[in-house]
Amino acid sequence: MTQGDSPAGFDGLPLKPGTLENLRSLGYQAMTPIQAASLPPALAGKDLIAQAQTGSGKTAAFALALLTNLNPRRFAVQALVLCPTRELADQVTVEIRRLARAEENIKVVTLCGGVALRGQRASLEHGAHIVVGTPGRVMDHLERQYLTLEALNTLVLDEADRMLDMGFFDDIATVARQCPATRQTLLFSATYPEGIEKLARQFMREPQRIEVRSAQAGPAIEQRFYEVTRASRYPTVALLLNHFRPVSTLAFCNTKQQCRELVDYLQQQGFSALALYGELEQRERDQVLAQFANRSCSVLVATDVASRGLDIDQLEAVINVSITPDPEVHVHRIGRTGRAGATGLALSLASMDEMGSVGKIEQYQKMETVWHTADELTPTGQGPLLPPMVTLQLLGGRKEKIRPGDVLGALTGPDGGYSREQVGKITVTEFTTFIAMQRDIAKEAMRRLNAGKVKGKSVKVRMLD
Ligand code: AMP
Repeated sequence: MTQGDSPAGFDGLPLKPGTLENLRSLGYQAMTPIQAASLPPALAGKDLIAQAQTGSGKTAAFALALLTNLNPRRFAVQALVLCPTRELADQVTVEIRRLARAEENIKVVTLCGGVALRGQRASLEHGAHIVVGTPGRVMDHLERQYLTLEALNTLVLDEADRMLDMGFFDDIATVARQCPATRQTLLFSATYPEGIEKLARQFMREPQRIEVRSAQAGPAIEQRFYEVTRASRYPTVALLLNHFRPVSTLAFCNTKQQCRELVDYLQQQGFSALALYGELEQRERDQVLAQFANRSCSVLVATDVASRGLDIDQLEAVINVSITPDPEVHVHRIGRTGRAGATGLALSLASMDEMGSVGKIEQYQKMETVWHTADELTPTGQGPLLPPMVTLQLLGGRKEKIRPGDVLGALTGPDGGYSREQVGKITVTEFTTFIAMQRDIAKEAMRRLNAGKVKGKSVKVRMLD
């Protein structure tokens, strides 16, 4: 495929040759619509208010801009990205590091709650060019003067609507006041609640507005509605899974109670399903997210609040187990699927008493609802839906200085003997490492890891069901 002459390629942008080369090596051939619309003004130094959903490629849109503004030889924080949640901050950090690898020694530090301040302070002292964090924790560091923003060139507010929902307006304002007046401010948001205008008026300079929403979200998502009764709701979820057989499905419930009930029901039916709701401990949340993201769990059942900031590539389906009364939330929910060119499936279950909410969604989306009946749903005869991967848990993580490469090395080296393709995502958290392996070889891989060594040391590995 030719890359240089594509009108929607990155080559026309004022980016360094190394950066263009790196984009090519990452497989980013064409710009996504949000990148095509926002990169030219962002690289020209303009402030932006861009409407973009998760999965639209918005991270690269602001990351390329902030990297362009950065001088690696200057040892000071030159870019700050504020995110609503730790998960999003972690994902943004990963994407920035990927995009920054064209240049040497760009240091990115993540500052989020739930982790000791001391380690973060040490990371800042070692020198950071870019900080990605949640507003509360960034404020903590500013107040203690572990972090200063005097050299800041770029301030990014990612998922600004979510941050406002979570009550972070004042924190964002305090941070913005500590940045140099000449900085560039890039604001990304899926929706435009009132607070966004207030932020724009107080902290931005003639922001350019970018909207690419329906062009990309509309046709890539196929929406189907099913009428259910109280008794048929959960069985219908099972029928949908068996019929469409999506590898990864996010199922939204309106309440925690419904999350628990549905997960119990699906597990009884032999599905691999896990619940994500507010009061899970961080450790449990990390584990659930790792299992879902690495494709070893078919269905993640979540409330809207718990799913905030969740960013999973390759989500084949979203199921609205109950219809949300807020049409904006509906659009958010279904926007999780159908990203990066693939068509997503959004399946919504509505009982008679939810028809009012369906009507509101119709009006909001200016789209007529397409109803289907459960009779159309036939099992495919392929047996139970099983995830393609299985997660192995290795006791030991960042604290033990384990990196994904160490585990990959053990699995693909002489003791492991596996090919790169047989190993899935490797997620290292503070105390533990999650390794996805193809289902048919997972047990043997666990045995080989337990018998061999990682970084020259014996390890303990178990299998998660
Ligand atoms: P985001 O909306 O920033 O979370 O990005 C969604 C996913 O798309 C991420 O996995 C990116 O690595 C990927 N991505 C971003 N831009 C491009 C591009 N131009 N071509 C291909 N993949 C991309």
